[in-house]
Amino acid sequence: MIDKLLNILKDISEIIAENNDCNQALTEIVNLLAKDLDVNVCSIYVHNKQNNTLVLSASFGLKDISNISMNVGEGLTGTSFETRKILNINEPKKHPKFKFFKNSGEKLFKSYLAVPLSVGGVCVGIIVIQRENAEKFDNYTTDMVKSLSTQLGNLILNTQIIKELSEKSTKPKNIVKEGLSLNVRGIPANNGIAKGKAYIFESRNYFKEIYHQTHSDVKKELDIFDKAIKLSIQKTLDLENKALSLISEADASIFNVHLLFLEDKSLINTIKKEISENDHSIEFSIKIAYNEYKKRFKKLKDSSFRDKIMDIKDTLLRLVESTKEIRFGSNNPLLHLTNIVSPRILIAAELLPSDLIRMPIDNIAGIICEKGGITAHVAILAKALDIPALLGVKNITQNVKKYDEVLLDCFTGLAYIRPDKTIKDEFKEMTIGRPLAGNIDLTPAITTDGIRINLRGNVSLVCEIDKLKEYGAEGIGLYRTEFLYMIRDHLPSEQEQINVYSKILQSSGGEPVTLRVLDCGSDKPIPYFSSIKEDNPALGNRGTRLLLSNEDMFITHLRAILRAGVYGNLKLNFPMISSLQELQYIKLILKKVEEQLHEENIEHSENYEIGIMVEVPSVALSLDKFLPHIDFISIGTNDLLQYLYAADRGNDSVSQLSEFFEPFFLKILFDMGHTMKKYPNKSISICGEIASNANAIPFLIGAGIYDLSITLKLIPNIKKTIKLFSVEECENIIKKAIQMQSASEVKQFIEQIVQDKNNKKIQ
Ligand code: PEP
Ligand code: MG
Repeated sequence: MIDKLLNILKDISEIIAENNDCNQALTEIVNLLAKDLDVNVCSIYVHNKQNNTLVLSASFGLKDISNISMNVGEGLTGTSFETRKILNINEPKKHPKFKFFKNSGEKLFKSYLAVPLSVGGVCVGIIVIQRENAEKFDNYTTDMVKSLSTQLGNLILNTQIIKELSEKSTKPKNIVKEGLSLNVRGIPANNGIAKGKAYIFESRNYFKEIYHQTHSDVKKELDIFDKAIKLSIQKTLDLENKALSLISEADASIFNVHLLFLEDKSLINTIKKEISENDHSIEFSIKIAYNEYKKRFKKLKDSSFRDKIMDIKDTLLRLVESTKEIRFGSNNPLLHLTNIVSPRILIAAELLPSDLIRMPIDNIAGIICEKGGITAHVAILAKALDIPALLGVKNITQNVKKYDEVLLDCFTGLAYIRPDKTIKDEFKEMTIGRPLAGNIDLTPAITTDGIRINLRGNVSLVCEIDKLKEYGAEGIGLYRTEFLYMIRDHLPSEQEQINVYSKILQSSGGEPVTLRVLDCGSDKPIPYFSSIKEDNPALGNRGTRLLLSNEDMFITHLRAILRAGVYGNLKLNFPMISSLQELQYIKLILKKVEEQLHEENIEHSENYEIGIMVEVPSVALSLDKFLPHIDFISIGTNDLLQYLYAADRGNDSVSQLSEFFEPFFLKILFDMGHTMKKYPNKSISICGEIASNANAIPFLIGAGIYDLSITLKLIPNIKKTIKLFSVEECENIIKKAIQMQSASEVKQFIEQIVQDKNNKKIQ
């Protein structure tokens, strides 16, 4: 008994820990106890001190519990509570104190056990269990319930305390003064600027609203369930088609996994079993299955796998919707997600992939969401739909009210809620700097002394290629292949990869396309591929290192790239190179791939260029060693800075230490440019985020970097700055800055110069 008791207590503790909502916790506990004690009914009544009644707060087995309450002393339960005595009786309806509650279904049960729940001498409620057979409960079960009673009493006590606390904690929400501004920070999932009134999106969590319900016709219920599955499959296919028209990388992958869940025998049978064996309604059975899967997923070691519970939730919510639709027709209010008629900033606790797909996209100006990071499906969708999005913003739903004004700057990762006049004015200035579509300067970026600077685009998704022309990008300077891998649950096949890469290569009308081979690991996790836990993933098996240790997968990837290479001007770029040996090994594998394709008589690119990302100090400081073996280098300042300053780029508290404007870093940049002069046939470019910063431009040109790959939307802005300077001026600027003492000195210096130049131009 002790073992079983301990297990039940452990499960109860887990339920309490996992549920903020106490009623929900009580419901889960009665379900658990009914199963573990093998009883037909398990109910918990809570004592309401104000009117001295017992309120049925959760029940497994009783129907229509919403209005059941009784006075203390009334019926068997009220008597047990009043006398603080355990009642263990058979045939309860023959007992003189028996009171029948209409529609509860209680008549059926022939044995009855009530145990008062006391904590520290105070009785706070009562637990009642019932069975269909007409026998008193044995000592084993009675002792078990008695042993659990203190824990349950404590929960009820806490429930009341929490209720009081939560009533108190909601008060500040209402006293948020009108006009009190608030700035919040998050992870930009898609950059851009947006402003608008807040729309608070109620995350779909019907599970909270589904309470215990039974049915009286198994056949009918199972029939509805079968229809609901079919309808859900159809809805999922529709969503899949819509997603596919938006994101080529997705293929069928986001919603494919939802289809797999809908066809998963174990999941479907779990639900069917609840319907047929326990007479639970479909909705309640789905909820039980969801809770069970949630528990299983929580136990998974890898957080990215654990995150997949969002996909199960999305699928099962769709199944609940379909059930309602079949039961009540399409007028069910749950089916109408939102009706946003003017551009709004969507504020949400959680956005599931299908939420976004089903939104009136044209009226979503921006997104701020509590959950999610850059690898979440919703982040990828926001990028594909080109909606500025800020994710991982804690408690945002509690701090914003409907119609609050919101300014969103996803370039800096900041949102301003109820901004004051100063912020509004600053924001206006910032947006003025960004030319609107239609006003974009499409002439080449040429310095005042006639040197052409190439401005290429940083691209992650096929849908972005339409914008290359719009913003005047000359080809693609960095195509990140990661998203193709991140968006699915399995490695993409050679053909799936070819389909996507060929679109990318075709897009740039003969301009070069620098395609970076898969750079996964660390800040770009692909859980199904790199699941080994490392203490220091940023210093671990990531980027090219990981590919070299997975040769088969590397070969498939390279075959797809070379085969797609025939569609355009391919430059092949390898990330996270740290030694010459790695480069030599890559070249051997490339040779092997070419030979394979040749032997198989498969068309592939034979005149592509090979380059490396300069992201690791060991490469930045010894370019001479690498250059004879490659055609180009591309400086990845995002990583190079993190490794040079030993400051994690994703860690807010240290990331500001890795300062581009430090004289020391400018010297490294200058030296690299200087080294490149010895290799006139090799090119140097930069694709780190710093190239999208106008104040960095004079330093990059001054270091001899004339090829910049940047965020598409910022190309016009950067072009404007380039056109203000001569190369000679830039060289002098960087030489002066290298002599300075600190990044702040350099920043002040360059800000003044850029500002003076802009002012002069206006005059
Ligand atoms: C970089 O490190 O600068 C870079 C462009 O690569 P990523 O940001 O994708 O790591
Ligand atoms: Mg990098």
